Amino acid sequence: MPRLRGGYPAHPKLHFMLMPERDHNPRDRRLHLPLVPVQQGRAGTAVDVQGERKPPWLKVRLRTGPNATDLKDIMRGLDLHTVCEEAMCPNIHECWEDREATFLILGDRCTRRCGFCDVMTAKPFPVDPSEPARIAEAAARMGLRHVVITGVARDDLPDGGAATWAETIRLVRRSMPGAGIEVLPSDFKGGERDIATVLDAGPDVFAHNLETVRRLHGRIRPAFGYDRSLDVLRLAKRLHPEQVTKSNLIAGMGERVQELTSAMRDLVVAGCDILTIGQYLQPTPQHLPVDRWVHPDEFAALARRGEEMGLAHVEAGPLVRSSYHAGSQFRRALERGLVAAGD
Ligand code: SF4
Repeated sequence: MPRLRGGYPAHPKLHFMLMPERDHNPRDRRLHLPLVPVQQGRAGTAVDVQGERKPPWLKVRLRTGPNATDLKDIMRGLDLHTVCEEAMCPNIHECWEDREATFLILGDRCTRRCGFCDVMTAKPFPVDPSEPARIAEAAARMGLRHVVITGVARDDLPDGGAATWAETIRLVRRSMPGAGIEVLPSDFKGGERDIATVLDAGPDVFAHNLETVRRLHGRIRPAFGYDRSLDVLRLAKRLHPEQVTKSNLIAGMGERVQELTSAMRDLVVAGCDILTIGQYLQPTPQHLPVDRWVHPDEFAALARRGEEMGLAHVEAGPLVRSSYHAGSQFRRALERGLVAAGD
């Protein structure tokens, strides 16, 4: 694998050059979060993990239970999909047994291409106007306690899909008045009107992921901007000061520990309340390679540091994902008293 000076991978070239649009995650292919075979590295050090065995803390036993089976049947009956299933998330059992699930809206084709993501980049299909109602029905039939809604970037739509986001929030709220609703939309190219449309629908948690540190952002998330993503969170606090906000960082993509700390500081200043940090796992060999395996102790230290800086709750660990135990993250942040620092 070609590497740049300083030991950081020359990944974006690899990702973009070898990933022809038509071949990348063709329709009907399942998305997955494979636990790539690697070897345990020293805690907190950058190690070349290519072709090595995975560390023991990434080994998970997939389990199932009655709740998970029920939820799966309901989803199939309504022709809906969850990120939990599509990505074969190792946390699916825990989340579904807790009656938490993450829906994908606005289709399965994204107009952007991020170096770590296995969602297909292609011209999207037209918006399905029945989707918000079907999600609301599924959430009610599944008896969810916390509904997480995420979706692809829809730069092809004049409002970036904001109206669909808002309609989905409203219908889920109507069918499940007691459930928490968390949304994880794109940045709407920073458009205040579209972000306001989503916020005005009243989600309990408004999340927008920063994903990586400033230095790597342009290469890993070329269609986003580090400052623009921070601005989305800042705007949410400005428009709705009581809005709970959330973000996510992925570790193991070539960043330094100090850069993660700087990103956490930037998130605090932007008014972010909840943060998740997890290990990057390479979806396919054509994606950005894993730079290092971050030791669980380093994740724990990051969580402590983030909360000392002012984040209301930081959930950090090798298998943590944005929607992992999202309901309990929200409740814990509320118990601790939210930070609404926005500048
Ligand atoms: S915008 Fe979201 S869905 Fe689209 S490629 Fe990036 S991370 Fe994946």
